[in-house]
Amino acid sequence: MRLTEFPRRRYTAAPTPLEPLARLSAHLGGPNLWIKRDDLLGLAAGGNKTRKLEFLVADALEKGADTLVTTGAVQSNHCRLTLAAAVREGLACRLVLEERVANSYSPGASGNNFLFGLLGVEAVTVVPAGTDLMAEMTKVAAELAGQGRSAYVIPGGGSNPLGALGYVSCAQELMQQAFESGLRIDHLVTASGSGGTHAGVVAGLTGTGAGVAITGISVRAPKAPQEEKILGLARATAELAGARSLPTADDVVVLDDYVGAGYSLPTDGMIEAVKLFARHEGVLLDPVYTGKAAAGLIDMVRRGAFGRLENVVFLHTGGSPALYAYQDVLTD
Ligand SMILES: *Cc1c(COP(=O)(O)O)cnc(C)c1O
Repeated sequence: MRLTEFPRRRYTAAPTPLEPLARLSAHLGGPNLWIKRDDLLGLAAGGNKTRKLEFLVADALEKGADTLVTTGAVQSNHCRLTLAAAVREGLACRLVLEERVANSYSPGASGNNFLFGLLGVEAVTVVPAGTDLMAEMTKVAAELAGQGRSAYVIPGGGSNPLGALGYVSCAQELMQQAFESGLRIDHLVTASGSGGTHAGVVAGLTGTGAGVAITGISVRAPKAPQEEKILGLARATAELAGARSLPTADDVVVLDDYVGAGYSLPTDGMIEAVKLFARHEGVLLDPVYTGKAAAGLIDMVRRGAFGRLENVVFLHTGGSPALYAYQDVLTD
């Protein structure tokens, strides 16, 4: 694949660690669990959007943009990281926040919402669930154009084929690390939301014939539409990257059993997973994405989805700032 043909900014100095989760593996009675620490990526407090933004912001700069416009939920990690990238590049940033849960926006809220202000967001527009977010961002871009400015619009989660190249690159990095340490990776588990992460990993791992089974744990959508979305994006991403063969439906598996009552709403499995990772490994997950993805991973272990000696990698996509907006449900 031809990743070097794309302009890229660098926001992380080195590969993120691939670490064994020895204590958690022992607690659960196997398999061998590993963690890919993308929570340690660069930009303010890290997380998976940083890899996508390396490609998206490079494109924005090449197109002469002076402002990044993007969208997310009221505690969006993607919005925090897009804003941080804008600050790093000397760009302005405007956010369109979707109230996916009615009345969930509170200007004084902690977590990522607090960081939007601290990082100096230029303007925030709050819209109700179901709003056409691309149309809303286009409005913001048009308003800026009217003032002689130039906006670059990034879709929710940075999940278009260009952004998903960040996770093709992560897949390559992971396989290189596995090779260096003589590790055969059997399975990878990741959160699956706007989809760029899951789709990029699928494109990257199938494109290199890595033979790693991939499970995406949905944090919002039901299984069928999420699988359809991931397959479409994975194929478009593989095509953009110049892959010789495109992923097929067999390469895309989504489980939707861990969403609970809805996006961002706490579940018992999430609470257990956040506490298990914190207390056995000293690793902070988040309540909206990695907590639910880890609940899926733990349940898969318990129902025997993996062989006892298999090596299973959990992709930690970040998000810990959101913990501070969920203190009430996570305090014993
Ligand atoms: C956005 C996000 C995800 C989901 O990634 P997508 O590429 O949107 O599917 C997972 N974890 C965290 C912490 C996120 O912020």
